[in-house]
Amino acid sequence: MSDCLFCRILRREVPATIVYEDADVLAFKDIFPQAPVHLLLVPKLHCDGLNDLSPEVLAVVPRIMEIAARLAGEQGIAQSGWRLLANCGEHAGQTVFHLHFHLLGGKPLGGKLCQ
Ligand code: AMP
Ligand code: ZN
Repeated sequence: MSDCLFCRILRREVPATIVYEDADVLAFKDIFPQAPVHLLLVPKLHCDGLNDLSPEVLAVVPRIMEIAARLAGEQGIAQSGWRLLANCGEHAGQTVFHLHFHLLGGKPLGGKLCQ
């Protein structure tokens, strides 16, 4: 049983505003939102990040994309546009080492992915 922050959110040991849950995926609001809509989508199986994908976690990734598109619609940003991204490792600024995808939208997000 992992002690990581998002595993603790999954076990309801740390509070979060959950917007979606199924057998394999949880989505909740980012605690420090960078945009009017900023959700985090995580596989329930622990995985440190994109460098460490197991076949079981990899199988969930397409579903996360499908769920992200559905949530974008529910949040009213499907037409205005949104971004789905995952940071991997130090240079990308990953701070929580449980694979997660940021769903961002609700304002112009800028064209640059790096500075
Ligand atoms: P990253 O920097 O890509 O690893 O993203 C980690 C994200 O988790 C950041 O955007 C944080 O704001 C967010 N975060 C950290 N702690 C919490 C928490 N307790 N609940 C929700 N989001 C969190
Ligand atoms: Zn975890």
